[in-house]
Amino acid sequence: MKIKSKKNTKTDSKIKFFKNKLEESGYRFTKPRKFILSILRNNSKFYSADNIYLIIRKSDPDIGIATVYRTLELLTRLNLICKVSLGSNRSFYMLSKDCKKEKPNYMICNKCGRIITNNKCLNSAIRIRLIENAEKNIFKNCKIKIDNYQIFFSGLCDKCSLQ
Ligand SMILES: [Zn+2]
Repeated sequence: MKIKSKKNTKTDSKIKFFKNKLEESGYRFTKPRKFILSILRNNSKFYSADNIYLIIRKSDPDIGIATVYRTLELLTRLNLICKVSLGSNRSFYMLSKDCKKEKPNYMICNKCGRIITNNKCLNSAIRIRLIENAEKNIFKNCKIKIDNYQIFFSGLCDKCSLQ
């Protein structure tokens, strides 16, 4: 995948939005920051830090994995992207707006490691909604501040289950 911004005004305004957000918080819109946001913007699927690094390396071999990790941390802290942890030690990233669009269901295949998100079958089998004022009550009673939640399945994906 080549990192290129699509030439339409909608995408340009999105990139400007990210640029403004960073600058408002006192950060420059550096190349790694722009690359990562473009990758996540062009495709509303999950990327691990390694996936992102492999894509960026093709466009700019000077950007190292440490920079990718640092940039992901910063963008997560600024709430431009979100980090989803699946299972033990597996983290994936996507744009914050994609995380919030719907409460996602995730399924991770124990055999091939494939991640399935927002699959129609999973979504229609289970609809999760917190009861009214749940976030407020959780905070009031336990001082736990919820900003998102997810359902996480594990098992065998459609390919592995047929083998
Ligand atoms: Zn599988």
